[in-house]
Amino acid sequence: MNYCSKCGQPVRRETPAGDNRERDVCGACGTVHYVNPTVVLGCVPTWNDKILLCKRAIEPRYGYWTVPAGFMEVGETMAQGAARETREEALAEVEIGDLLALVDVIRARQVHVFFRAFLRTDQYGAGEESLETELFDEKDIPWDDIAFPSVTYALQRFIDDRRRGASDVHITAMGWPPTA
Ligand code: ZN
Repeated sequence: MNYCSKCGQPVRRETPAGDNRERDVCGACGTVHYVNPTVVLGCVPTWNDKILLCKRAIEPRYGYWTVPAGFMEVGETMAQGAARETREEALAEVEIGDLLALVDVIRARQVHVFFRAFLRTDQYGAGEESLETELFDEKDIPWDDIAFPSVTYALQRFIDDRRRGASDVHITAMGWPPTA
């Protein structure tokens, strides 16, 4: 950030009084501009034994496969957000199930939250952010073309749990330590 979003004057990097790390602080109005991690919501939607994946029509990772996922919006619950992303990206209605995985993605400054989910019907399609969507048998999942490590992690944990008849919550961190 170069300029204060509140008053338009230049900001500088400094540690505010009582704080313990550098922030962008406005030299004119004194506003401290905090940068905190954002929440990404996703789900692993299933229809019978098949898993719904979307091929990304946007950067980053254009053309790679992912589960429906995106940034949490103000005014929604995590489950509502995961269902909304599935509606937007896969044109599908899901019932959100239990929590599958929490992934700290340190370098991206994000927390990724994944739920298990069930398609309410067999209707789905490609939303604006998807080139195509497809129901995959477990053995056909394109592991080499998955867009993000957190998605690979969630899919692997989901499949492993399903084989064992379990539905655990899995927690991990990626991209630690940060490089910048
Ligand atoms: Zn200001």
